Amino acid sequence: MAETIFDVAVVGGGPAGYTCAIRAAQFGLKVALIDANDRLGGTCLLWGCIPTKAMLFTAEIWDHLKHADRYGIDVSDPKLNWKNVLARKDDVITRHTKGLDFLMKKNKITTFKGFGRLTGGAKDGVHSVDVKLADGTAESIKAKKVVLATGSDARMLSGYQADETVLTNYEILKIVEMPKSLVVIGSGAVGVEFASIFKSFGAEVTILEVLPRVVPVEDEEISKELLRQFKKRGIDVNLSVKDTKIEKNADGALVSWTDANGKPQSKQAEKVLVAVGRAPRTAGIGLDKTKIVPDRGFIMTNEWMETTEPGVFAIGDIVGGLPQLAHVGSMAGLVVAARLAGKFAKPVNRSRVPGCTYCDPQIASVGLTEAQAKEKGYQVKVGKFPFVGNSKATILDAHDGFVKVVSDAKYGEILGVHIIGPYATEIIAECVTALELEATVEEMMFTIHAHPTVAEALLDGFSSVEGLAVNV
Ligand SMILES: Cc1cc2nc3c(=O)[nH]c(=O)nc-3n(C[C@H](O)[C@H](O)[C@H](O)COP(=O)(O)OP(=O)(O)OC[C@H]3O[C@@H](n4cnc5c(N)ncnc54)[C@H](O)[C@@H]3O)c2cc1C
Repeated sequence: MAETIFDVAVVGGGPAGYTCAIRAAQFGLKVALIDANDRLGGTCLLWGCIPTKAMLFTAEIWDHLKHADRYGIDVSDPKLNWKNVLARKDDVITRHTKGLDFLMKKNKITTFKGFGRLTGGAKDGVHSVDVKLADGTAESIKAKKVVLATGSDARMLSGYQADETVLTNYEILKIVEMPKSLVVIGSGAVGVEFASIFKSFGAEVTILEVLPRVVPVEDEEISKELLRQFKKRGIDVNLSVKDTKIEKNADGALVSWTDANGKPQSKQAEKVLVAVGRAPRTAGIGLDKTKIVPDRGFIMTNEWMETTEPGVFAIGDIVGGLPQLAHVGSMAGLVVAARLAGKFAKPVNRSRVPGCTYCDPQIASVGLTEAQAKEKGYQVKVGKFPFVGNSKATILDAHDGFVKVVSDAKYGEILGVHIIGPYATEIIAECVTALELEATVEEMMFTIHAHPTVAEALLDGFSSVEGLAVNV
């Protein structure tokens, strides 16, 4: 039988890889998808976006239950069933892994469960990917193009290893009992989301951050507001910490650090979560056999996600210079699929990527922060609208937070929107569209927003740039 030559072989079945595979198949290409895990979905579905948000949803319900009487509901003695919290999270994952299997069949994508490795450049226009299958056998997959989408792993503090006490996102999602205390090292999105979840469930939570503010990639005012709200929730936040050390003991671990004033501090906790970023998973995938020279493990690409090896593309968390987010990876996958099929595509625009942090309160942003806009030389005009003036926020009992709009005073172009408060991660979509379509503040001021909605805070936010917010 003639050997199958695929149009494209995608290595990695996370959101970047499976999205690319599906779109390529929709365009009529013959696609192979190789994944080292027994289930498709990658970090996002198995150990990242989806399980954390499933747990955050339970945490939100639990928070509401604690104050049910405020909403006119008498509840006597509700109890948290940790085993079932995890089971519900796992059920959400299972439903979606099955969904992915269905989509592979529906789109006639041939899947291989095994570790893929490039063998070198293309020979006569055909690449080979060696796959070590789960049963120990090997397979050589031939394809005209290869898309690398092998994702990332949690970074660990140097000198430590993840175990039952010192956790990464992987271990913390399966701890058998709710810890009474948790130290979270790192206050990026992953760190603050877990801090928020475990605080809601009743743990004593301490955050350690080396930088002088939490969620350091966000606008400074957002960081300040999150700090205020986390403190209000009773989360102990320590900024500008140095020399963090973890000493394990019978009750968990003693975490010690030097505080912002140079004083030694320590905290005993049952568990320690290390959330200090994600390292690209590019070891052992055969880059040494190609013209690709990784930069600290990351693969560099051009705007069409092409690597320096002809016919080999890279998408998702392994790509240097792009935010490590599921929607960035999947969009890059759509771009590559369209290019391979000769269809219309637009490159991923770094300045139009929404960033969402699903802690309580939620944070969402797109475009430039106020400081970045000033650095770029814009004549910046800022508007700010507090959720206290939004009627839906009152209904939701979520008055804290605000919408901040950063605009260019000269032409009224919207440069960035930064939200902290209810449904921030949902309503940011409108702002991404506004930036994508290069909308001006005035155009958004005359865009009708349904009432009563949280999105109306955006209408007031845009209007506040001109000092014309109605509801405050
Ligand atoms: C706790 C947590 C929460 C997060 N929450 C969000 C969120 O809310 N929103 C958001 O946008 N992002 C979130 N992220 C980030 C998001 O998970 C990643 O950006 C996303 O998963 C990256 O997708 P990817 O396809 O590049 O890689 P991955 O999802 O890591 O998938 C890579 C796949 O490649 C496979 N693989 C690796 N090496 C090989 C090989 N050699 N051969 C074959 N297969 C291989 C792996 O098995 C894996 O399935 C979160 C991350 C974490 C850790």
